[in-house]
Amino acid sequence: SIFSELGLSEPLLRVLPELGFESPSPIQQQSIPLLISEPIDFIGLAQTGTGKTAAFGLPLLDHVDSSDLTTQALIIAPTRELCQQIAAQLVAFAKYYPNLRIQTVYGGAPIGPQIKAIKAGVQIIVATPGRLIDLIDRKVVKIETIDIVVLDEADEMLNMGFKEDIDAILSHTPEEKATWLFSATMPREIRSLIKKFMKDPVEVSV
Ligand code: AMP
Repeated sequence: SIFSELGLSEPLLRVLPELGFESPSPIQQQSIPLLISEPIDFIGLAQTGTGKTAAFGLPLLDHVDSSDLTTQALIIAPTRELCQQIAAQLVAFAKYYPNLRIQTVYGGAPIGPQIKAIKAGVQIIVATPGRLIDLIDRKVVKIETIDIVVLDEADEMLNMGFKEDIDAILSHTPEEKATWLFSATMPREIRSLIKKFMKDPVEVSV
């Protein structure tokens, strides 16, 4: 299989070979055609190292309107390191979207620069749950315009005690949006999160 058969737009097809992405991994083959079409709710059962960042990151970049500075997509991940890794991959994928802005938001770092960057306008925020809640409460992050929410390593976030933060974040997002959840395992708590916040999700397992 090749990336050009999955429906991705030209700025992404141009950058992928430059980054050494020649052919899509199994999770990418399954998720990309689904996620670039209609905004559906999606569950990906996948471990790290399977290429799941590109599996959600490429269709996410395809959806975002880089000429509009409102926040359109939110990626929530358990740790600062994972947020930085996701953002770095998205920045690399977005090489041919010159107006696209991606901002990381996590605790344990000064909040001032994060506030300043978000106030300047960012289309994509990559965040840990606690700091994100703080910035939503301060009315810095406005999530009423969000089209897509990605929950990455959802099981890990629940293990780390972020269940209430995730509930609060999802409750603030608009009804009309797509939720894409990735998890290595499917414990009962994830199932209840899915039941509460997702509509007719399509589930893919690799
Ligand atoms: P992930 O599972 O998203 O953390 O990805 C693991 C590593 O594989 C990262 O360094 C990616 O840049 C790389 N990668 C993911 N998908 C592909 C692909 N289709 N071709 C080449 N490298 C890839």
